Amino acid sequence: MEKIVIIGGGIIGITLANYLDTTKYTVTLVDDQTGQATKASAGIISPWLSKRRNKRWYRLAKDGAAFFEKLAKDMSLSNEIFAKNGTILLRKNGLESLAALAKERKKDAPEIGEIHLLSARKTADKLPLLAPQESLFITGGARLDGALYLEHMKKLAIQKQIRVIHEKAKLKRQNDHWEVYTKNQQILADKVILAAGPNCKTLLESLDYQVDLRPQKGQLLVFKTNQVQSKQWPVAMLDNEADLIPANNGQIIIGATHEDNARWDLQPTSTAFDQLTNKSKDFLQAPESLLKNSFDYRVGTRAYTSDFAPFFGALIDDPSLFVASGLGSSGLTTGPYIGYLLANYFNTGRWPDKDYQKPLDTYIQKHPF
Ligand SMILES: Cc1cc2nc3c(=O)[nH]c(=O)nc-3n(C[C@H](O)[C@H](O)[C@H](O)COP(=O)(O)OP(=O)(O)OC[C@H]3O[C@@H](n4cnc5c(N)ncnc54)[C@H](O)[C@@H]3O)c2cc1C
Repeated sequence: MEKIVIIGGGIIGITLANYLDTTKYTVTLVDDQTGQATKASAGIISPWLSKRRNKRWYRLAKDGAAFFEKLAKDMSLSNEIFAKNGTILLRKNGLESLAALAKERKKDAPEIGEIHLLSARKTADKLPLLAPQESLFITGGARLDGALYLEHMKKLAIQKQIRVIHEKAKLKRQNDHWEVYTKNQQILADKVILAAGPNCKTLLESLDYQVDLRPQKGQLLVFKTNQVQSKQWPVAMLDNEADLIPANNGQIIIGATHEDNARWDLQPTSTAFDQLTNKSKDFLQAPESLLKNSFDYRVGTRAYTSDFAPFFGALIDDPSLFVASGLGSSGLTTGPYIGYLLANYFNTGRWPDKDYQKPLDTYIQKHPF
């Protein structure tokens, strides 16, 4: 059997591992769990009304959101892991034009679900944490608990006889195969897939590739409240200022920061607390009563390319080396689908005919850009 090693067990790596045909491949997943974006993420799956103009990204994000129905069935995701409670969008101006955009986009993305302009009272009924204000509500918006997803998918992977190693990996080319090595292990592979978030850059640079990828720090706040209904509430996107994500067990999340200069740093900061609470305060019914709860920070590192678009596939000059990264702030939405598309390629040889990304050498080259 061919041997595949996946380096990186975030949302791409773990989804890919679970969709690989283990009657064809011996699969090892190596993940050191440092700075993982998936575990830190806010969990919003609601890409349809983004202001981004990149059509390839939108196609991928829209198909990624639609893929969740299959993913939830295939992997038996519980309501704690994945919940479709809808998204509330708040805007100081322009709710009608946002509703018109939603209707237009729905022609091609029925997953958006129902589209309702809500009165101030109805907004607060849907999500009592919000101050009364008009909003747009779409029923197709969802929330994924990244940490629970990874835990669940790891169990499934182990049941499929996939070997999971929690150590940092390096890799070397050895004639016609790869050697992936960690502090305690050495694994030989016919094919290697790098799904290591921003660290794909370091791994590829060790093989003399130049990579257009940078790390970005993201922090969010998880308040522990006694709001037992929280897991049934919709997510709220606060006019591009911040997001409010009711989660399991009374947790209320406010996120997230986008800190380019902090790069790999994983320390929580009081500046992030001030920024996130200041940005969300005006939208909340009783900010002081939410903020007086105890809270934890969550910190992770996102991966970005210069044009903010993800990339995935085999390297042009070495078809035994695959890479998937650059998912930025929407990787919970696009990541599982990218993992599935890669697995599908390994299982069937079929590559998607849709135009989801620029050619890989836009981002990765043997020579300087
Ligand atoms: C604060 C925050 C909030 C976010 N909110 C959302 C959201 O609401 N909606 C949304 O769609 N997206 C969101 N995102 C983005 C999303 O979380 C990421 O884009 C996505 O999780 C990236 O997945 P990944 O598998 O590429 O990488 P990661 O999840 O980062 O996984 C990469 C893994 O590779 C491992 N690794 C790296 N190098 C090595 C090595 N040499 N050896 C072994 N292992 C290695 C790392 O330890 C890590 O576990 C958010 C991100 C952050 C940080």
